[in-house]
Formats: sequence, C-alpha cells, structure tokens
Amino acid sequence: MKVVEHIRKAEGKTLFSIEILPPLKGKSMQEIYQAIDPLLEFNPSFIDVTYHREEYVYKKRADGLLEKKSVKKRPGTVGICAAIMNKYGIDAVPHIICGGFTREETENALIDLSFLGIDNVLVLRGDSIKSEGNFVPEPGGNAYALDLLQQVVSMNHGQYLDEDLQDVAPTGFCIGVAGYPEKHFEAPNMRSDLKYLKAKVDAGADYIVTQMFYDNKKYFEFVEACRAADIKVPIIPGIKVMTTKKQLTVLPSIFHIDIPDELEDEMSKVEGNDKAKEVGIEWCIRQCKELKAAGVPVIHFYTMGNSDTCKRVVSKVF
Ligand SMILES: Cc1cc2nc3c(=O)[nH]c(=O)nc-3n(C[C@H](O)[C@H](O)[C@H](O)COP(=O)(O)OP(=O)(O)OC[C@H]3O[C@@H](n4cnc5c(N)ncnc54)[C@H](O)[C@@H]3O)c2cc1C
Repeated sequence: MKVVEHIRKAEGKTLFSIEILPPLKGKSMQEIYQAIDPLLEFNPSFIDVTYHREEYVYKKRADGLLEKKSVKKRPGTVGICAAIMNKYGIDAVPHIICGGFTREETENALIDLSFLGIDNVLVLRGDSIKSEGNFVPEPGGNAYALDLLQQVVSMNHGQYLDEDLQDVAPTGFCIGVAGYPEKHFEAPNMRSDLKYLKAKVDAGADYIVTQMFYDNKKYFEFVEACRAADIKVPIIPGIKVMTTKKQLTVLPSIFHIDIPDELEDEMSKVEGNDKAKEVGIEWCIRQCKELKAAGVPVIHFYTMGNSDTCKRVVSKVF
C-alpha cells in the first residue's frame, strides 16, 4: 500500500515507521531481521531501506603501489525490500538515488521494483563520493532528485525512455522526497531550498520525509514555511535517538544539523555512554510526545540498526 494511503487510513492518528540500512557486504540478512523483530509489536506502517552508492578505497598492491578500487560496502537494498515484504507483509520503501546510475539503469531498477510489488520509493539525489567533493552525476544520469522524480512520474504515466515502446504498463509508485528543516547544506539559504522542494512537490512528490532534528521548533517552523510556500503534502518528521556523547559533534558534521543547548548541556553533564544513552532516550521521548500531540502524520525513526533504543522510545510514545 502507498505511504499516503497509510496516512489517509489512519484518519489523523500518528503512525510509526522505521528506516534501516543494509548490512555491510558479507554480513547476513539476520542482522536486518534482528533490527526489525523487536519493533513488530508497534506495527510499523512501512520500512525504508537506504541505498548506498559505491565508494573509492585504496588497496596496497604486492609491488607497494596503491590501487584505487570502487567498492559498494552496503549492497542489497532491493533484496532486503523483497525479503521484508515476503516475511512480514509490511510495505518496504527503497531509497533510490541519482548518483552512480544512468537513466537507463534507473529505469531498469524501477522495473524490478515495480515487478516486486513495491508501491513506494523515496527519491534522492544522494551525496557526493567522499573523494569527489561536489556531487557529480553519472554521464546520462540524473543530476537532481527533481530529475529522478520526473523519470519516476513519467513511468507512472506509462512513458519509458524508449518512446517507441507499444502498450506499456504504467508503474504506480507513490513518491517520497527529502526535506531539510535546517536547510540542505549546499543550499545558499532556506528560501532557495524551499523553492526546489516545492519544485519536487509540484512535479509529483506525494510526501516529504525530513532530515533528523533535535529541536521540534525547527520542524514546526519548517512545516509552516512549507505551507506558506503552498507545499501541501504530508511532511513526515525523521527522528534519531542520540546514543553517545560523540554524536554531539558527529551528527552535526555528517547531517548539518544543530544540537540544542539544553541537550548538549544534559549530555555533557553525564559520565559515560550508558548515561548519555539515557539522556538521549529521554530527550527523544519528549520530542516524539510533542510531535504526536501536534498530530504529525508519522514519526519515522532512523534506527541505524539500533532497535533497542528505538523500542524504548516507541513503547513510551505509541
Ligand atoms: C529522509 C532522507 C533519506 C536519505 N536517504 C539516503 C539514502 O538512502 N542514500 C543516500 O545516498 N543519501 C540519502 N540521503 C541523503 C541525501 O541524498 C543528501 O542529503 C543529498 O545531498 C541531497 O539529496 P536530495 O534528494 O535532498 O537532493 P536535491 O533535492 O536534488 O537537492 C540537493 C541540493 O541541490 C539544490 N537543488 C535542488 N534542485 C536544484 C536545481 N534544479 N538547481 C539547483 N539547485 C537545486 C537543493 O536546494 C539542495 O541544496 C537521505 C536524506 C534524507 C533527508
């Protein structure tokens, strides 16, 4: 079922969903089941599975020289989605990205997803390869999430890349896109970022999932700014439990977000990660209770494989 259908059927009740990432190459599917099983009792409406593009690593050769290799460390997004739907009967939402794909490859991947009975995709540009600095699209690939979204919308209208195809079956994807309550780091300002977010919605995005945030005010202001810009689709808050003191600096550097003074103070006061985790869980419970009271459509948890902390929060909120 489509994410927007889940929301419609809930009739104003806040739903619960999670995001997981594929295990490192060579690890087993059990990791995924172990991350999902403890959360089943809370009836996740859908499960997102992230997509991870290739990275470059340098391997030392026998002659001592370094060899540059392209490695995909976390493959398996499509297989995991199929396994989730098969085993649990829960809707899986694969993330699809521009980076590393030609439009032809994207089309073929979307055909696979459609044949698997997947009803939703979260459409993203993807980040740059670490060594490249700026994001570089694949030759013949999509440059922005908007371009990728337009490709999915075209397929939903039965328009494939080869215009000569006859009697084509349209796909029926419900399309999610990313939004940033604290602005995407490359955008010159919020106004510009919202302009492109609106372009994604106008082109056919059905819902928005936000980057994580630790200050609900940022989310509420973002929703207000979106509504003022005539963006009317559901805006699903993305939430991550802070579990270590190190994340006070790591999360801002990776995700370009601010940590509220009060959370920083509370985290800094305690000794050791066990206590820091308790602070993070309590903070997250407060955040989620307020979001739920405000009637958000879904609370979407970035579990990152850590279902224990997510379970502790969800059991207090749902
Ligand atoms: C909920 C969520 C899930 C994610 N999942 C993944 C994942 O699974 N895999 C992964 O690799 N990454 C993932 N990301 C990270 C995401 O790929 C990065 O944040 C990326 O840098 C931007 O992606 P986007 O889809 O927001 O890009 P876009 O919407 O394309 O925006 C990128 C930047 O370009 C600007 N922009 C947009 N359109 C235009 C235009 N036409 N002209 C000029 N500027 C423009 C925007 O303002 C923004 O600054 C996720 C992010 C979120 C919030």
